[in-house]
Amino acid sequence: MPRFFLTTAIDYANGDPHLGHAFEKVGADCIARWRRLRGDDVWFLIGMDEHGQKVAQAAAVAGVTPQAFTDRIAERFEATWDRLGISRDQFIRTTSAEHKAGVQDLIERIFARNPDDFYERAYEGLYCVGCEAFKPDSEIVDGRCALHPTRTLERVQERNWFFRLSRYQAFLTDLFARQPDFLRPESRRNEILGLLREGLEDISASRSRFSWGVPFPRATSQGEEQTTYVWFDALPNYWTASRAPGSRAQWPAQLHVIGKDITRFHCVIWPAMLAAAGEPMPEQVWAHGFIYLGGERFSKSAGVKLDLGEAIDRFGADAFRYFLLREVPWDGDGNFSWERFEERYVADLADGLGNLASRSLAMLEKYRAGRVPRTDPGTPLDAAAAEILPRYAAAMDALDLRGGAEIAWELVARANGYIVETAPWALAKAGQDEALDQALAALARCLTSLTVMILPYMPEKAAELWGHLGGPGPVQALAWESASRPAVGGWLVRKPAGLFPKPEVPRAT
Ligand SMILES: [Zn+2]
Repeated sequence: MPRFFLTTAIDYANGDPHLGHAFEKVGADCIARWRRLRGDDVWFLIGMDEHGQKVAQAAAVAGVTPQAFTDRIAERFEATWDRLGISRDQFIRTTSAEHKAGVQDLIERIFARNPDDFYERAYEGLYCVGCEAFKPDSEIVDGRCALHPTRTLERVQERNWFFRLSRYQAFLTDLFARQPDFLRPESRRNEILGLLREGLEDISASRSRFSWGVPFPRATSQGEEQTTYVWFDALPNYWTASRAPGSRAQWPAQLHVIGKDITRFHCVIWPAMLAAAGEPMPEQVWAHGFIYLGGERFSKSAGVKLDLGEAIDRFGADAFRYFLLREVPWDGDGNFSWERFEERYVADLADGLGNLASRSLAMLEKYRAGRVPRTDPGTPLDAAAAEILPRYAAAMDALDLRGGAEIAWELVARANGYIVETAPWALAKAGQDEALDQALAALARCLTSLTVMILPYMPEKAAELWGHLGGPGPVQALAWESASRPAVGGWLVRKPAGLFPKPEVPRAT
């Protein structure tokens, strides 16, 4: 069974989960569920980044210790992931003892292999607490960080451990040549290639004044104990995850899912750290885009927010998951609007799939007492499914999550058309039993294929539909090859009561 170790960015524990976090987790969960359907042995890791100045500051404002503060935040994130059906296998927290020991171990491995990969250097620069990074002039606008215009940059002067990133320029250039798919989508790859051409500067690996973090394992020549720089602490979570009790994580990861704002950390610093420690490279990094509300990016600092609970409550978690993945391309940016959410819900789910399921299953109940006739799959609808299924699988394998949903809904449209063309009620009236059997069985097969196709997007609705179709076993145990081309003859179906109920009053926005 091929292994598929999938990770997302660990979320910074200084506030509540927002739409940006949700989009990333829903997308990664869709991939995890698809790989399970494919038969992979999936290990899906998500978690929290709990160290750093920003967290300590937020805890101070809340009047609690940083640990108590992050405990509370982690709980809120996990509750949100439960509501959204995020099927994580492991939730890592960088304040865990195993992670902290792992970070120190990784740093010691680098010292052991290349003693001068770390060196001490006095440094002065403008530091953005929002980014937890020193900012070059090119990323400063009007004296402020371009990404965090509400924060004041701090002039920081200290003597730190530095990591000799510049040494890994040739290695990284070669990595991108050797693994052309290392960073996807293509637009992001070009950014990093540009960065590599410009040349890499060494980076700070420790901070001197600040203590909410992992102690850097070696004191400076002046005997000062320092704290591991937050990115040197956060990135190794993918590597330290296997140390947690019960974890089946196994390095290297097959896929890191991250936001496009942190590609530099994941595609330059992280591979260089791994190379320095003599560890294998992750197979692929996928950098998704941003989701905007009325053209503005969701972020704590900019105050642009959508109540996640309200969005989930509107039509249920599955409809929200579907909307995000169908509306926003997984390789680019997109927008959230309540109007569009409702439009899609009504058109795609209530009138599309919901209507197809309720009409088809109602006719099976009415004309065949719910028993699916045994027929050979030779109808035009079967032909359409046979053409659509491989295209869907190819899109999902390529992580084109919007494409996968689009292709699945081609089959929904085709099946609704098939009902009109065959008019089973007329066949029943005319006593054309064989033709009626053909049409009803084709619809049952088609609904089964659709159940499997929507499973990565809408796991609860897929389980519900599977139950109404009378399919054997739990829906999570389905395998793509057999379930997508089902033998449904003899199944006992039940008409669903409101799979996707229509909103009674259109929402005013
Ligand atoms: Zn910043």
